[in-house]
Amino acid sequence: MKTIGLIGGMSWESSLEYYRILNQTTRDRLGGLHSAKIILFSVDFADMAAMQHENRWDDISEILVEAAQQLQMAGASMVLVCANTMHRLADDIEAHISIPLLHIADATAEAIKAQGIQRVGLLGTKFTMEADFYRQRLTEHHGLEVIIPKAPGREAVHRIIYDELCQGRFTPESRQAVLALGQDLAEAGATGVVLGCTELELLVGDSLATVPLFPTTRLHAEAAVKLALGL
Ligand code: GLU
Repeated sequence: MKTIGLIGGMSWESSLEYYRILNQTTRDRLGGLHSAKIILFSVDFADMAAMQHENRWDDISEILVEAAQQLQMAGASMVLVCANTMHRLADDIEAHISIPLLHIADATAEAIKAQGIQRVGLLGTKFTMEADFYRQRLTEHHGLEVIIPKAPGREAVHRIIYDELCQGRFTPESRQAVLALGQDLAEAGATGVVLGCTELELLVGDSLATVPLFPTTRLHAEAAVKLALGL
C-alpha cells in the first residue's frame, strides 16, 4: 500500500472528511483492520485565506510547494491538495516534486464522464468558479462543458464557504441556498453539479432531486485510495 500525502487545513473541516473517507474506503476494499497510510501537512487557514483575498498567490505557492516537498521527503508516494481553490497552484506544486499530484478536478471529471454527463454546473469559491484554472481543466482536459451561477449566486456561495463552512457552521438556510443554486444550474442545462469546494458536501450531502451532485472531497479521496492500492 502506498502512502498518501495530504496538504490539509484548507479548511480542517474538510480535511477531517478526507481522513475519514480515505480510511473508510481502504477498509471497505481490504476489510478487517486495514486503514490508509497517510501523512498530513496541515496549514493555518487564516493566513492562507488572507493571502488569497490579497491576491498573494506567489506567497501561497511557496508555502504549498514547501509542504508538498516535506510530504515527499517524509515518504509520501503522492500528494493531494485538500481544496479545490488551491489547485490554482497545482502546476507550480507539481513542478517541484517528483511524486504525482493527484488533481481534484481530474478525479471529479472521471466520475462525471463515467455517468455519461457532458455539461456540469460548478459551485465553489469565486476563485474556483471565475478563474480559468479549474474550468479549463474540466473543459480542455476532459471535454466537459461548465456553467457557473450568475454574480449574486457566486457571491452567496463564496460568502457561505468562508464565513460559515470553513468556520464549522452548517445551517439549514445555507443548505437551502446552495441547493437552490444547484437547481438553477440544472434548469440552465447542467445535467450534473460539481460541489467544487471541499466543504460543500458537508453542507448538502451528495444528491439533488433533479441531477447528480459530484462531491469533490469524496471523489478525490476515493481516487487516492485506488492509486494507493494499485486498483
Ligand atoms: N475548501 C475550499 C475549496 O475546496 C475552500 C478553501 C480554500 O479556499 O482553499 O476550494
